[in-house]
Amino acid sequence: NVRGVPALMCHSLHTSTHTHQEATQSKGDVQSYEFQAETRMLLDIVAKSLYSEKEVFIRELISNASDAIEKARYLAIQGQTLDSSEADMKIHITTDKYDKTITIQDSGIGMTKEELIQNLGIIARSGSKDFIKQLEEAGGADPQSIIGQFGVGFYSAFMVADKVEVFTRSRLPGSVGYCWTSDGGGKYTVEESEGVEPGTKIICHLKIAERQFADEDTVSGVIKKYSSFVGSPIEVNGQRA
Ligand code: ADP
Ligand code: MG
Repeated sequence: NVRGVPALMCHSLHTSTHTHQEATQSKGDVQSYEFQAETRMLLDIVAKSLYSEKEVFIRELISNASDAIEKARYLAIQGQTLDSSEADMKIHITTDKYDKTITIQDSGIGMTKEELIQNLGIIARSGSKDFIKQLEEAGGADPQSIIGQFGVGFYSAFMVADKVEVFTRSRLPGSVGYCWTSDGGGKYTVEESEGVEPGTKIICHLKIAERQFADEDTVSGVIKKYSSFVGSPIEVNGQRA
């Protein structure tokens, strides 16, 4: 991200609230959705987490980026036409100490609006479902140890971020871009967004106490620790990690 160039931003004009089943959108409209009750519960625990290995959020976001690239590759092999077929298939991570952000970008399959709502608003992931089940069964046991055991996928970003923006555009031809954003509370918003590259870009706005994840060396260290065997090349601020 070049400083001085206005970054993509979700704005919050014309907000209207919907439950996650509803999906009507007029251009320029910001729609606010409520997370499913289970997701809300999970997010609440994750956001307040004192879990000591918060750095695993980097592994989770890289693993999702890698899965998305694999999906695009697979569809291309099947003969599916995709937007930006010349895309570099790398995972690009950028850090910005001034803005306190870490950004994970991939040129993978991306998400349509419906997929955004399904995949990020509702817990389908078996790990997260097991987590909730364990939590209920444990009845007041320490959720921190359970986070460590099960992992919470995408939602782990909220251990370190007080706001997460997901810019995504499906690689399926004719798709438009969207911005999903949440502070990890009960709601998220989705709006159509211009200038989104095919694939997915996730901007984590770090909590003050977690600003070390906007430091390049810290991030490179975490990648070496957890993500050495990821199928796609990873770059941190333009350098091979
Ligand atoms: P899991 O990876 O186990 O399915 P996650 O919570 O990590 O669970 O992610 C939830 C879903 O969100 C994924 O299954 C995928 O459909 C979608 N998703 C997350 N990150 C990306 C991404 N970078 N590109 C495309 N889809 C993504
Ligand atoms: Mg995942």
